[in-house]
Order: sequence, then C-alpha cells, then structure tokens
Amino acid sequence: MNPIFDNHCHLDPEKGKGIAAVEEFSKSGGTHMLIVNQHSWKDGKTPSDMTDFEERFYQTIEIVEQATEILEGRAWAVLGVHPALISRLVAEGQTAKEAGRFMCDGLDMAAKLIDKGDAIALKSGRPHYEVSKEIWDTSNEVLRYAISLASEREIAVQLHTETTEDLSEVSDWAKEIGHPWEKIVKHFAEGICRGVTPSVISRRDELRRAIENGNPFMMETDYLDDPNRPGAVLGIKTVPKRTKTLREEGHIEMMEVAHIDTPKNVYGIDTKE
Ligand SMILES: [Zn+2]
Repeated sequence: MNPIFDNHCHLDPEKGKGIAAVEEFSKSGGTHMLIVNQHSWKDGKTPSDMTDFEERFYQTIEIVEQATEILEGRAWAVLGVHPALISRLVAEGQTAKEAGRFMCDGLDMAAKLIDKGDAIALKSGRPHYEVSKEIWDTSNEVLRYAISLASEREIAVQLHTETTEDLSEVSDWAKEIGHPWEKIVKHFAEGICRGVTPSVISRRDELRRAIENGNPFMMETDYLDDPNRPGAVLGIKTVPKRTKTLREEGHIEMMEVAHIDTPKNVYGIDTKE
C-alpha cells in the first residue's frame, strides 16, 4: 500500500456528503484519515450541557467505523472542544471561567472515549481572532488542561490556534507538564511551525514550504463537508492529488515523512496497514 493520510477533516452525515466523501477520498487514492468532531454548535445552538458534546462525539465515532469499512487502510476519530466556543458561551452570559470549566468537562468526556478506544487524540486550542485578556487567559488554561489530559494518556492533541509559525510558548507548557512537544499538532499550519508538529493545509505553496524546510509534518484538508460553504476549505480529494504530484516530482522521502513516519511518531499509528 502507498499510504495517503489526511490528518484533519470533518464529515457531516446529516447535511453534507458524509460517507460519500470518504468514497471520493478512497477513489482518489486516500488510504487513512483522521475525522475530527464537528463544532458542538454547528446547527446554531450553543451547547448547554454535556449531552450536546456527547451527540457530536458519538456521531464522529459512528462515521469513523463506516469510513474504516470503505478505506484500504482505516479512519480514526479525534475528539475535543473547538476553542471558539468560549466566545459563544460568554456572549450568552457565562463568565469566562464558567465557560472554561464547561469546555474542560467536554475534554474530560472526550478523554474517557479515548480511554475506551473510540478515538486516538484530543482537539483543543485557543481563539484565532482577537479576544479580551480574560478570555485569552482562560483559553490558555483550557489548552493546558488538554495537554495534561493528553500527557496522562501519552496521546496527541491537535490545536486550533491563531495564525503563527511559532508556538514555542505552547511547547514550553508541554515541557512543564511533561508531554513531548512532537505530540502537539498545529492544525491548519501554513508550512512551518516552531515548537509543535505542523499539520499543513494542503495548498501548493504551503506544502512547498514544508518540504523545503525539511522538518516532520503532516497534511490535511480541514474538509468541512458543509454544502453552505463550498470552497471554504479544501476538497476531500486534495491530499491524494497533491501527494501524487509531489511524489511524481521526486519528493518521495518527504511524502513518507508526511504519511508514514510523522503519523507514527505523533499518534503511534501504522499507515502501512
Ligand atoms: Zn477543522
């Protein structure tokens, strides 16, 4: 098998293509994928208790099972809480602290499902837009909490953060907590990110930068499967397409790094199976 791994995509079995997107991915040569749960407020309703998270998590676990049946390799789930939730909760009257506690409870629930073997990594982060100091500080507390949960389990955590090429602040926290920085992944990285493992959004220029840089990285589409936002992110066939082109151009070694070595080091998964 020639592994082709998408490190971050979403599937919406209700309103999007759902499992049909996995078929497209597979037909284009994709073999393995990480499916991340959708925002807990996807349908416009801010989550008010844990059952709202639970619903999204179980929906993700279910579609991962279906995807695994289709793929030559398999799919895995990544579960967690989108960092922008804090702003929605605060806008609806919660204090930043209350919102932070609620989000940590959501991370606890995700961690329990990981303990059961239903998912392999956590998702957390901090807002990518400007926020008050209180919201920023609380978001960083939530992020550190996610790292501590990941550390206890020796698993990876995917982070949604502001646009940056330097997250050494975060790797310093990981060091204090005792978690290897390699297991902290910056989702939607633009080629390079110091201090963590970049999951590079698979546009031509960003991939070229990652390859020239030569450090371990992975590839992703952040496919949203949202019919109302076509083209908001990359299509599900993008990682297979770009990978084939890059292999043809001779970047065989770096494609092994992206699809075999880095997923193995970060998540402990074998994409050759
Ligand atoms: Zn995403």
